[in-house]
Amino acid sequence: MNFQKNQMLTVEIVDMTSEGEGIGKVDGFPFFVKDAIIGERAQIRVTRVKKNYAYGRLEKVLTPSPFRVEPKCAFHRQCGGCQIQAMSYERQLQFKESKIRNNLIRIGGFDPELIDQIMEPVVGMEEPFHYRNKAQYPIGEDKEGNPVAGFYAGRTHTIIANTECSLGVRENQRILEIILTYMRNNHVPAYQETTGKGLIRHVLIRKGFRSGELMVCIVINCKGDPKKEYLPAQSELIEALAGVPHMTSISLSFNPERTNVIMGKRSLTLWGRDTIEDTIQIRNVEKDFEASGEEISFDISPLSFFQVNPVQMEKLYSIALSYAGLTGKETVWDLYCGIGTISLFLAGKAGRVYGVEVVPQAVRDAERNCNKNGISNALFFEGKAEEVLPEKYDREGISADVMVVDPPRKGCDLPCLNTMLKMAPERIVYVSCDSATLARDLKILCEGGYELKRVRGADLFPMTVHVECVVLLQKSARWQLPLD
Ligand code: SAH
Repeated sequence: MNFQKNQMLTVEIVDMTSEGEGIGKVDGFPFFVKDAIIGERAQIRVTRVKKNYAYGRLEKVLTPSPFRVEPKCAFHRQCGGCQIQAMSYERQLQFKESKIRNNLIRIGGFDPELIDQIMEPVVGMEEPFHYRNKAQYPIGEDKEGNPVAGFYAGRTHTIIANTECSLGVRENQRILEIILTYMRNNHVPAYQETTGKGLIRHVLIRKGFRSGELMVCIVINCKGDPKKEYLPAQSELIEALAGVPHMTSISLSFNPERTNVIMGKRSLTLWGRDTIEDTIQIRNVEKDFEASGEEISFDISPLSFFQVNPVQMEKLYSIALSYAGLTGKETVWDLYCGIGTISLFLAGKAGRVYGVEVVPQAVRDAERNCNKNGISNALFFEGKAEEVLPEKYDREGISADVMVVDPPRKGCDLPCLNTMLKMAPERIVYVSCDSATLARDLKILCEGGYELKRVRGADLFPMTVHVECVVLLQKSARWQLPLD
């Protein structure tokens, strides 16, 4: 096929990739078109031609898809954070459900009939905007040298000024405006990645959705040797920020490294508490996620990992808890436990919970959160799941009635899966943020003697292509002790 760069073409968008790009065909030749939506006719400009496929830029929608909606954010195409904001929310949920289904069939090798039989509807949000409890804004300067806060234009490090992200909480804008005004008034320079000069790098804002508490952490290009003032006119800034209703914690993070990593290793609280508190409730999955009244509180520091969508997190972990089918006696392992969010959900219904987590600070947080909630039947181990588990199994012959895993995108390592098979829990609950690696791991566990019983997606990231998923595996009658 002879297509030229910059050529204009008309295409029908007939499908979508798992990354949310539209797929159009011209004489059978596939074009990937970012921002185009399934079911529309569009004019595109050819940007790159490969042997078997090509890329095009959406120039004009000729006949809009029935699923196209007016996006909330004027910057959604430049930003790239919300890949599918121009698609109706209902269609987004359908897209996510088929993403999970396809991966289980193609990568996991599961029978489509089985999947259709057991897969439950993906759990969406009633109000799919302003759901993030955490925002990290880069700070830079515009052409005139004025300080700006915004986002990096897709795959670049150019900051586009925008303090009104429609996924974040409304308080973000006010806090950012206070910081930018302070910077202008006091000539405080923004950090420049190219030279390594300047002072203010990023602003992190967190909000406890139930408590209402707000945290601001300003990341500065400074080693943090003890001194009285790290910022010019520091007290003026603190006073202005402390005036925001529900402000609870104002801190600095010191990051003098020339790196993409946002947060520095050290931090200092300037005003208020070191942490904010938030509470999550266990929900009744059988009764349309009605609140059960049981809640768990967490202390969250600037560095803690905490799911960014607390409303949906409650639903996700409540599904995991219901799949675990606990009666109060079980020994449960929670691998990749982070600050123990799932572990603490499980602890109230289990005999004993063991958590495993690689980040030492997260393990300390998990222990602290146990004490805070008066939970005494949970114990945490620091280390890699694929090392801690085999070691404990070989040395101590540990056992499990139920295992819960919630690994990062890359999924579980083989030694971890193998030890899980040897430990042979009655049930395995796998919580996943990437259904492709989930499917790969389920294949191994099912070949090792488990049966896939339940699957349910939960939308923690509306407007993006990401989806979380919970599955239940049951030990089958065919299970045999694996040979080494
Ligand atoms: N279930 C937790 C965290 C899930 S995120 C929660 O909901 O809060 C995945 C976690 O796995 C992170 O905390 C990460 O630090 C941890 N992790 C990553 N690789 C790991 C490994 N090899 N072994 C144990 N934990 C790991």
